[in-house]
Amino acid sequence: MGNLIFEQALEKGSRCERLSRKAAYCLAEAITPDRLHRLGEAALANRRRRFGRQATYVFNMQINPTNICGSGCTFCNYAASKNAPHAYVLEEAEIIEKVKRLCPTEVHIVGGLNQIWPFQRNLELVRSLRSRFAGLHIKAYTAVEIDYFAKTVGLPESAVLDQLKAAGMDAMPGGGAEIFSERLYRQHWKNKTSPEGWVRIHQLAHGKGIPTNATMLFGFGDTWEERIEHLLILRRAQEQSGGFSCFIPLPFQPGVGNFIEKGPTPLETLAVLAISRLVLNNIPHLKSYWPMTGLETGAAGLSWGADDMDGTIGEEKIAHLAGAATPVGLARDKMVQTINTAGFRPVERDGSFSPIGSSA
Ligand code: SF4
Repeated sequence: MGNLIFEQALEKGSRCERLSRKAAYCLAEAITPDRLHRLGEAALANRRRRFGRQATYVFNMQINPTNICGSGCTFCNYAASKNAPHAYVLEEAEIIEKVKRLCPTEVHIVGGLNQIWPFQRNLELVRSLRSRFAGLHIKAYTAVEIDYFAKTVGLPESAVLDQLKAAGMDAMPGGGAEIFSERLYRQHWKNKTSPEGWVRIHQLAHGKGIPTNATMLFGFGDTWEERIEHLLILRRAQEQSGGFSCFIPLPFQPGVGNFIEKGPTPLETLAVLAISRLVLNNIPHLKSYWPMTGLETGAAGLSWGADDMDGTIGEEKIAHLAGAATPVGLARDKMVQTINTAGFRPVERDGSFSPIGSSA
């Protein structure tokens, strides 16, 4: 019976059809080497149906204004207390100068929860970027930061989103979701937005015409059941509000002296990508996030359901402070070469996933 459901799930999934809850769970049951390869084949058929050989990337830059944060998430290697040796604070002028120098298509702004870069200062940064760089796609602030801004300035989340949108924010990143598990939430990140809060804020953004991404952190003590549940919650949220552009599974980086010695293996990461592609029939894009998977596994992910490699990233800090061994940035030609070598057609895109030129 289990085999029959598995086979039917692969068939439907490869045709981009919606899987039942039972079928979604069945995909992750007893992943033998044979089943693993079947998952990969079905996910590849699915992404080919959607995007053919196209694999996108964006010329982007990360802006992390400060790493000072007192939230105390157990897995975080990025956050620093105010006086820690690795604490840093960027000034507006440095940020503007760097954007001017790199001329990215998109900026991705996220930082810690603190009063050094409070809501008003962030709002001014968005306003300032918008007035100086009219065509820049500004993807900014996780649901965790929106929740924190709202609480610290005493405004409803809705008003915070309205003000950021009016200042020039185009979209929201998907960070802070971690994994939708009450068990792990209480254990690891209980001082910040809960899974329900994260979904609520994203749906609020969708209602205002702000597209968002979604993530899932995995490989830090979570179970396959929790991963499938996370995907099903996202799929249901997307059926209601429809604003998720892209899903990004994030393999856990153990960092230095953290509570788990090893993150997920490359094969486990590929299995998560494949199952995500098959279950999330209604989220258009699936990203293979190379700073956390490694470049080779990231490129292999294109054959396991992913259609996007994220971007060139300027200087990524969050994954690297957690011990990621990937380069901190990638030149455009290296990205193009990586995608070509993986057997796909590299296409540079804008922040809304529209092609801006083929680099094949
Ligand atoms: S994950 Fe985010 S909220 Fe948690 S400690 Fe790190 S920077 Fe702060």
